[in-house]
Amino acid sequence: MAQNIVTEEKVIEEVKKAVAETLSSDPSGIEADNSMIKDLGAESLDFLDINYRLEQTFGIKMARHFILEHIEDMFGEGAAIDENGQLTEKAVLFLKARYGDKFPGFSAGMDMDEVPSLFTIRTMAGGVMDILETLPEKCGKCGSASWKADGGVKVGCGSCGEAAVYTTGDDLIKQWLSKIQEENKSC
Ligand SMILES: [Zn+2]
Repeated sequence: MAQNIVTEEKVIEEVKKAVAETLSSDPSGIEADNSMIKDLGAESLDFLDINYRLEQTFGIKMARHFILEHIEDMFGEGAAIDENGQLTEKAVLFLKARYGDKFPGFSAGMDMDEVPSLFTIRTMAGGVMDILETLPEKCGKCGSASWKADGGVKVGCGSCGEAAVYTTGDDLIKQWLSKIQEENKSC
C-alpha cells in the first residue's frame, strides 16, 4: 500500500542527517541533489554506516547488495557487468525499468565504477521510501489498521504498539527483478 505516514521531506531530512553524522559535516550544507561521492566525499565504507543509521531511524533493513549484484546472482556472472567492467544492455534495461528518469546517466558500456557517483541524497531517500511503501495494511499482531509514526519516522501500531514490519531492501530488489523479467518475457 502507499503509506503516507512518513513523508518524503522527512525521509530526505533524515538521510541528510545520517550522511552528516557519518561524514562529520553540517546537514544544512547538504542539498537533496548532491552526489554522495562527488559532492559530499562519501566512500564505499561510509555507505554501510549511513545505511545502518537509516535502519535504526526507520526500523527497516536496507539492501546489502546493489541491484547489479542481484542481477548477476539471478542471471549469472557477466549478466550485469561484462569482462571489461562495463554495464551490459540487460543491466541498463533493469536499471531503467527500476529507476526510470531518476538516473538519466545510465547507458550500456558505461564503466561500472561510474555508477556509484550517480547516487544522490534524493536517490538514497527513494530507496528508503520504497521500503516504507511495503508497510502492510494492518498490524500483524492485533489486526488493527492504525499505524502511527513516532517522531515522524518510526512506524508502530497505534493499538498494540507493535513495530511495523517491512520487506527488506534485498527482498524488494529480488521481487522487482522477477517482475521486470516476467514483463519482458511476455512481450
Ligand atoms: Zn497492533
